[in-house]
Amino acid sequence: MCGLIGVTGTVESAYEVYLGLMNLQHRGQDGAGILTTESRPGKEFHLQKGTGLVENVFSERSFKNLRGHAAIGHTRYATISRNDPNLLQPFLDYRLGIGLGHNGQIVNFYELRDKLIGSEKTAVKTLESDSDLILKLLCAHLADTVNAENLFKAVSLCMDELIGSYAVVGLVKDGALFGFRDPNGIRPLFLGRKENSDGKPAYALGSETVALSFLGYTALEEIAPGEAIYIASDGQMSRKQLRRDSYSPCMFEWVYFARVESEFGKTSVYRARFKLGQILAEQMKQQKIEADIVIPVPETSRISAVAIAETMGLPFRELLIKNRYIQRTFILEGQESRLEAIRRKLFPIAEEIEGKRCLVVDDSIVRGNTAMQIVKLVRQAGAREVILVSSCPQISSPCYYGIDFPSPDELIAYNRSDDQIASELGVDRVVFQTIDGLKSALGQLSLCTGCLSGQYPTDIGSAVEFEANRQKDREKPLGNRC
Ligand code: SF4
Repeated sequence: MCGLIGVTGTVESAYEVYLGLMNLQHRGQDGAGILTTESRPGKEFHLQKGTGLVENVFSERSFKNLRGHAAIGHTRYATISRNDPNLLQPFLDYRLGIGLGHNGQIVNFYELRDKLIGSEKTAVKTLESDSDLILKLLCAHLADTVNAENLFKAVSLCMDELIGSYAVVGLVKDGALFGFRDPNGIRPLFLGRKENSDGKPAYALGSETVALSFLGYTALEEIAPGEAIYIASDGQMSRKQLRRDSYSPCMFEWVYFARVESEFGKTSVYRARFKLGQILAEQMKQQKIEADIVIPVPETSRISAVAIAETMGLPFRELLIKNRYIQRTFILEGQESRLEAIRRKLFPIAEEIEGKRCLVVDDSIVRGNTAMQIVKLVRQAGAREVILVSSCPQISSPCYYGIDFPSPDELIAYNRSDDQIASELGVDRVVFQTIDGLKSALGQLSLCTGCLSGQYPTDIGSAVEFEANRQKDREKPLGNRC
């Protein structure tokens, strides 16, 4: 999962992209990059990339170099090789004069990589990642002149070959901005428009509505699955539906990943999380589950926990206090560092927990490591009973589309009943959202629920090979990520 933003037609394009990236920081904290173009011979592109948070990668001086009226930016969420600078985006092809950033994961990456590298036609020697693969594949299909028509043809050919999830934002050296989304719409992409002071339009493409709204873009619109868009440097916009297989956005955007101010599929993340809580509360009322207090696990579950407390008529209590300087454990790499981070980052207020029956609400339970540590903290604080509530249904299958869920045997819900999960986690009871409840809360009957149901929106025939190869790549600084 990564963050994408691109703008064209603005005076301070790089600075806008920087502010956009700041609003997409939660989508990737491993690195960031900005690519701009001045559209002048010899002055086409300016590129700066670095590892770490957006505010650490760019400084005031960066914007003296990152000149131009069009720019794209990327924040990286690494599933492997977090510190490898070669994997930072945007990627750039100087020959054709295009660059791009990608959010998603290509399931048949290794197959396509071998095909491209083996092809005399493309003369590709190395590929850094699946994002690099998309760029090289696109270039291989592009005619020498990059315009809307040629780009749409090339993207269409790419869509015939790529299997997986991809939202792409790209930049052409003449200042044109383009974007496209996979035929199942697994990863998000939005378009916004605003008017400059001279009355000319400026356009932006981005992963979340919050980033576009923050920059003053309005008339926000979701790019359709399989749709491509090209905005020429004079503001002329072309759009084309190239292919459409389904509408299967990732449910995890609403549940965990996206900012609460964002909206997907016309349902705001805030509203979806509140509804998830209400539905869970009704479920618990029917099951006659009783408790004294509702405690959210900060930060993502707070809205659902408020809804649960309100619906069940229970006090809502913030009794797990987060050390805000520790990164989200979900993004950390390696088992040991995860456990260590969880232990360090949450502190219980014991005197308020002691003797109480606690409903502890979390957004999801993946490996169970976080949950297990939290339960220990709450038990040590003297809780009489601990009921763990998950806003998300049981995650029991891998994600092949860019979320770093582990192999099935590391998933706590894989091949375990709810009672077995409860016993494993050391709680009195565990309550999960149902898939129907999730669909109802998100207002989407059509969703990707691959990691919940094992039913994926794309062919996953290459997935076993992909996982095996990715494991090998984890041990060396080259591979498929983001
Ligand atoms: S498998 Fe799960 S996490 Fe991955 S894209 Fe689908 S819903 Fe999202």
